[in-house]
Amino acid sequence: MTTAPTLAESMRGAVLTEADASYDEARQIWNGMFDRRPGLIARCTGAADVIAAVNYARENNLVIAVRGGGHSFPGYSVCEGGLMIDLAPMKSVRVDPVALTVRAEPGVLWGEIDREAQSFGLAMPGGMISHTGIAGLTLGGGFGWLCRKHGLVIDNLISCDVVTAEGKLVRASETENPDLFWGLRGGGGNFGIVTSFEYRLHPLGMVLGGMIVYPLAEAAQVVGGYNRLMKDAPDDFNAGAFMLTTPDGHQGIGIAPSYFGNDFVVGEKIVEPFRKLGTAVMEQVGPMPYTVVQQILDGAAVPHRRYYMRSNLMDDLSAGAISALADGYARTPSPLSAVVIVPFGGAVARVPADATAFYHRDANYSMTLLGAWESAGDDEANVSWIRAVWDNLQPYLGKGVYVNELLDEGTDRIKSAYGPTYDRLTALKKKYDPANLFRMNQNIQPA
Ligand SMILES: Cc1cc2nc3c(=O)[nH]c(=O)nc-3n(C[C@H](O)[C@H](O)[C@H](O)COP(=O)(O)OP(=O)(O)OC[C@H]3O[C@@H](n4cnc5c(N)ncnc54)[C@H](O)[C@@H]3O)c2cc1C
Repeated sequence: MTTAPTLAESMRGAVLTEADASYDEARQIWNGMFDRRPGLIARCTGAADVIAAVNYARENNLVIAVRGGGHSFPGYSVCEGGLMIDLAPMKSVRVDPVALTVRAEPGVLWGEIDREAQSFGLAMPGGMISHTGIAGLTLGGGFGWLCRKHGLVIDNLISCDVVTAEGKLVRASETENPDLFWGLRGGGGNFGIVTSFEYRLHPLGMVLGGMIVYPLAEAAQVVGGYNRLMKDAPDDFNAGAFMLTTPDGHQGIGIAPSYFGNDFVVGEKIVEPFRKLGTAVMEQVGPMPYTVVQQILDGAAVPHRRYYMRSNLMDDLSAGAISALADGYARTPSPLSAVVIVPFGGAVARVPADATAFYHRDANYSMTLLGAWESAGDDEANVSWIRAVWDNLQPYLGKGVYVNELLDEGTDRIKSAYGPTYDRLTALKKKYDPANLFRMNQNIQPA
């Protein structure tokens, strides 16, 4: 039997039970499909609180859920019973504009780190939606608008402070515990709880960005053309492709170009052919701050809706794949759902596959079917829709998946995120967490 005071006495932050007024807010996460009730919620304010919470969970055999920004698709940041280690109060961000680095705590969201970095004319290559947490996103690998120019988030990670399953605080970097540092860069929350991330920053002024929308009926021509153009695109340029429903109810294809070079005349020349892929029904592309680019997609992933998804990496967007996606999207039961296609390439692909635990660097695209709807009564229709589109896509999928875009899909799918690096990860897990204390995640079993 666990009691709150024991943990509460060893923490600076609050320990919540269901009797507390803020309990319901603290247990709520981005994906409204998960309405779990932790036994205790440890609202951590620093590494000492995280150590106390880890020790308490281990000594009392409690399941642990770790919450950074709370955007886990499969809801792993909240548990039924057990202990939710809530890092959301840990919000410090410190930019060093001389060293071009930033140190941030794990409750920080991308919009928050972007704001601090941009006030010094700097940018962190981070995720594409401003309300996602830096912690979970970084530990899976992390792609974003800047990844073709500056690599994945983990390619810009310098060091981490980590609380291990034993309750010890260790540093991981290229020179300190380099094996742990390798595993943290893609291996998710399997090896410990990160209490501080140190990243490299890059100078960045205004960006050429925005959105062009074409009718879904032109999918073959528009997405096919997009695929051809992206093959020759420079690292300074990125563009997502989305199947979506516009606010006035039309199904369309959104192409979101973003140019990160200094010369907008050059940028305009790169963007121009993306404006001519079909019959544009909306076009808004122009100079804007990076913080605005980082929020362009926020409205498509509103917190607390109900979400279900399937995702895979893709080598190519063949005519068959585009047709399976467009025919599938045309039948979506919810206008809030989307198909999300994001390119890799550039700096992502230049890092050797075994340099970090993020293996699939040669994939050309990440493709996600994202079902979104408001009411539990619509669960079955939306989940069935995703599954049917997914079945039709099978012949066209690449060989792996991005670990942060998995639901609870079983060990084979986790293995497909890591390919041949999986065995190295199981050995590392045995070293740092042999009892699998951190198991509410895309779990790597100790060897
Ligand atoms: C709206 C939305 C947009 C997204 N956009 C992108 C994107 O552009 N690029 C991209 O790469 N991914 C993206 N993702 C996927 C994203 O990387 C994962 O959902 C990620 O887990 C979110 O991190 P979080 O801290 O918000 O989540 P949380 O739910 O808080 O954490 C997820 C898991 O990460 C682990 N974890 C969290 N914090 C820590 C910590 N400090 N130490 C150890 N383990 C920890 C835990 O296992 C936890 O269950 C997006 C997801 C959503 C929902």
